[in-house]
Amino acid sequence: MNILVLNCGSSSVKFQIIATDMEMIGSNTDQRLARGNLERIGGEAIVSLQANGRAASLSTAALRDTRAAVEMILRWACSDEGPEQITSVADIHAVGHRVVHGGEHFKHSVKIDDEVLRAIEDCIELAPLHNPTNIKGIQAARDVFGSGLPQVAVFDTAFHQTLPEHAYLYAIPYQLYRRYRIRRYGFHGTSHRYVAYRYRQLQKIAREETNVITIHLGNGCSIAGIRSGNSQDTSMGLTPLEGLVMGTRSGDIDPAIIDFICVKEGLSSHEVETLLNKQSGLLGISGLTNDMRELLAEERENNDRRAHLAIEVFCYRVRKYIGSYLAAIGGADAVIFTGGIGENSPEVRSRICSGLQWIGLSLDEEKNSLAQKGFEGKVSNDDSRLAAYVIPTDEELLIARDTVRCVMGVEQRF
Ligand code: ADP
Repeated sequence: MNILVLNCGSSSVKFQIIATDMEMIGSNTDQRLARGNLERIGGEAIVSLQANGRAASLSTAALRDTRAAVEMILRWACSDEGPEQITSVADIHAVGHRVVHGGEHFKHSVKIDDEVLRAIEDCIELAPLHNPTNIKGIQAARDVFGSGLPQVAVFDTAFHQTLPEHAYLYAIPYQLYRRYRIRRYGFHGTSHRYVAYRYRQLQKIAREETNVITIHLGNGCSIAGIRSGNSQDTSMGLTPLEGLVMGTRSGDIDPAIIDFICVKEGLSSHEVETLLNKQSGLLGISGLTNDMRELLAEERENNDRRAHLAIEVFCYRVRKYIGSYLAAIGGADAVIFTGGIGENSPEVRSRICSGLQWIGLSLDEEKNSLAQKGFEGKVSNDDSRLAAYVIPTDEELLIARDTVRCVMGVEQRF
């Protein structure tokens, strides 16, 4: 089956077309046919498109909305520039959507019907910035491909629905959980689930034997403690603001800081939340950039004190979480790094692991320094009691595979 994987943001649409089916999933022979990115939708959009084995094309196009973007993807895919496997709309067999928030309702990926769409709408309150744009993507695909084409929703939150009550409850009045479902949901679930799955394939172990800590470090960052294949705890909470230090997000802070800033700076609580989401994290501390690569260069070349500080706070927070998750889930066999920083920065991995020798994590510095740009495998010494791995994430592949499973009515193995 050829699956169109859509990730619809407020002004962008990222997509891939992946050929996969139950046999290809079993033999790991799924094929990536095309990928692309349409940004600044609503005006003159920047469009990058690439069919497998061909050069990427970069252009601009006036795209009014998400529907216009999906129409453009389909037109391109069927044209001579698109992948050779797609010549007409009939060659797309299903659409898989990344949906940010599935609340407590969705523990797995699901085939979308009117009832599912209503339930995704019910979660808007929990993700007011993301779910409405995901719904627009679903409606756009329905308009462009017709209601007969199967569509599947894959939720960022679903993998973490196995968190026990003591891990997901906040210590605030219980009726607030009852009334508004205020609790830890966690995000990046598709990424944590994918790298845990790859790890057990590399190790040739069963899902039930998978005890790992997965660390997703990109622009957004989160960590998950996985015991017997199930997510037991994760650092993002009701929203993706909690937990690790991120590109522009603060991660954990004392909640009393919010009112303090409101009073001192004359801001509303909403404005402070925006400050914590958009002007904090690596950007906030360094005052320079949210980009880890640039910060490492500033530190190396200009000895910039605040760039150094931002990286130190970032690495310290990850290390602290690794320690606490080892305690929380009763130990683990490996830590797994993924995401733009986790996959590509030996320096950051080394700095995170440098304080963890006492717990039996001994990084193989040479292997670690060579592990970037698509490397997959172990970066710790063979006698390391706690192993360290780098595994590139592939959320799109998992979305395509879940789409096939949902369409075929096959049980999803997390
Ligand atoms: P997103 O969360 O938006 O998908 P990515 O996973 O692509 O983001 O991660 C982006 C981050 O990865 C940026 O901070 C970028 O600087 C960082 N990054 C990418 N390559 C490197 C590298 N070689 N060294 C250090 N950081 C890197």
